[in-house]
Formats: sequence, C-alpha cells, structure tokens
Amino acid sequence: MSATSQKTVLITGTSSGIGLAAAVAAARAGWRTVATLRDPSRADALRKAAAEAGVELDIRQLDVTDEASVAAAVDGVIADHGRLDAVVNNAGAGHVGTLENESLAEIREVMEVNFFGVVNVSKAVMPHLRATGGRLITVTSVGGVIGQPFNEAYCAAKFAVEGYMESLAPVARTVGVAVSVVEPGAVATEFVNNLGIDLEGAINAAGPYSGALRQYVNRTVAQFTDGAQTPAGAAEAVLGAMTAEQPAFRIQTSDWARAFVATKLTDADGSAVQSLTSAWVS
Ligand code: NAP
Repeated sequence: MSATSQKTVLITGTSSGIGLAAAVAAARAGWRTVATLRDPSRADALRKAAAEAGVELDIRQLDVTDEASVAAAVDGVIADHGRLDAVVNNAGAGHVGTLENESLAEIREVMEVNFFGVVNVSKAVMPHLRATGGRLITVTSVGGVIGQPFNEAYCAAKFAVEGYMESLAPVARTVGVAVSVVEPGAVATEFVNNLGIDLEGAINAAGPYSGALRQYVNRTVAQFTDGAQTPAGAAEAVLGAMTAEQPAFRIQTSDWARAFVATKLTDADGSAVQSLTSAWVS
C-alpha cells in the first residue's frame, strides 16, 4: 500500500497486555500501527512480539495524562503518515481499595489515567478521525457496567468513560466517526502485577474490611488463574471494532463478559440506546 492509502491506527498503552496484542494484531491485519507507550524504554516485549509475528510497528512515546505528550504524538503521526483511521484508548491502570482506606489523591489519580487520559487522547484525535470517517475505540471493562467490590474508584472511572462515550457516540456519528467501547472480563496481562500493591499488606492494613478484602482477593486470584482470557483473545474484539462495517457501541471480549454484563444490561451491544439518542441529533 502507498503511504496515503494504508489505514493508520494509534493505540495507547502497548508495553504489555491487551495493547501489545492489539498492536500486533492490527499490524498483522495490514494496518500501519502506531504503538504508543508512556515509557519507550519499556518497549522490549512489544518489539519482541512484533519480530516474532514478522510485523513492523511505529513505536512512539505517549503518556495519556500529559497533554503535551499526546499532542506531540498525534501531530507526529499526522506529519509522517497524513491520516488516522482508528484510535484505541487502551491505556489504563487498576486500583484496589475502599472508601475509608484510600485518599482523595489516590482516587483522583485513578480518574486521571482511566478517565481524563481517555478524554485527553480522544479530544486530540477527533478532528483527524472526522477527516477519515474513522473509529474511536476505548477499552473499558465489565467493571464499566457492574460496580465491583474494592474497585470503587476504578469502576467509577470506567463508568465515567462509558457514560462519556455513550453520550459522544450519537454526536460523533453525525460527523462520520464510529465510537465503541470494548469490555473485557479477566484477561491474563500485567494488569494485576501493575497494581503495584502488596496485597497481603493491604489485607492486614484494611481494619474492619480485612476479611472481606481477603475473600475478594482470593476470588480474583482464582478468576485470573482459571478463567482469564488471553490478551490475543481480547485484542480480537478490538480489531473487530476497527474493521466491522458497523461496529456495535458495546463490544464484550468473551462469552463470559457478555453474560456478566447481561446481569445488568438489557441492551448489551448498546444498539437500543444508540438508535434512541441518534434520533435526537439526526
Ligand atoms: P497492562 O498489561 O497493565 O497494560 C496497561 C497498559 O497501560 C500498560 O502498557 C501501561 O504502561 C499503560 N499505561 C498506564 N498508565 C499509562 C499512561 N499514563 N499513559 C500511557 N500508558 C499508560 O493491563 P491490560 O490488562 O492490558 O490493560 C489494558 C486495558 O484493559 C486497561 O484499560 C484496563 O483497564 C482494561 N482491562 C483489563 C482487564 C484485565 O483483566 N486485564 C479487564 C478489564 C479491563 P506502563 O507499562 O508504562 O505501565
């Protein structure tokens, strides 16, 4: 493909996990893939995976919490490739804690990465997606639909992203941009290790919540040990959102995730809400 005809995707948080797998899957599917990381010195696993898959990636620095970094990455992509056809807001970070045991500063930090980071990147790329009739895809979580114990701040951030994107989708559609959220359940990535906390220490320090936290941690460890999806499996759903002719607003990454959100949602793919609200603006 020539420099102007090859579709270009930018993905955030590609040092590991779903972002890394999505970058490799997108490149393998023929997309020019801009794989971004907040710390380029952590690109070894990404480079290795790309080499093993025999694909080329354009690796760039992007910290979703830093407006200047986002602007520099997006401007650089447009200067070098001239187009953006899809953007995958994948970067995110988990957090385990409960109201009495976490500071406002910690809760704000969770919102900063998982919510404001998504808005920051989306704002910078929207004019370019508008130019190509592109896709704005955000990896949220089943925790963006169902609040989960000891995940108050994380789920609040993911609910916020889902609310933001559900509201944006009918508006973006009027200018030719498809907005989707991708909802994984447990995926075997660095997500739990990257929590950066000593779980045993946290349980011991949790006072009246110690027993409940231990039970939650045991359940979560078992879920990640026995039932976690592979990052490649979750990445398939991301690729589906990039390539489907008319992607659904809500895309769960597994049958388990679909059944879990159906505990709460009667509109699991978001089509009923989208057709209702799209009618307000078209
Ligand atoms: P992961 O392996 O920990 O990957 C998270 C990625 O986000 C890492 O590359 C990390 O980069 C990056 N990141 C964190 N803060 C960032 C920032 N400020 N700027 C740019 N990048 C940043 O976990 P994962 O499971 O693949 O997570 C990907 C997405 O899936 C997240 O949005 C997560 O909430 C969501 N999710 C995961 C699961 C799961 O079970 N794994 C379930 C539901 C939803 P560093 O290497 O620099 O930290």
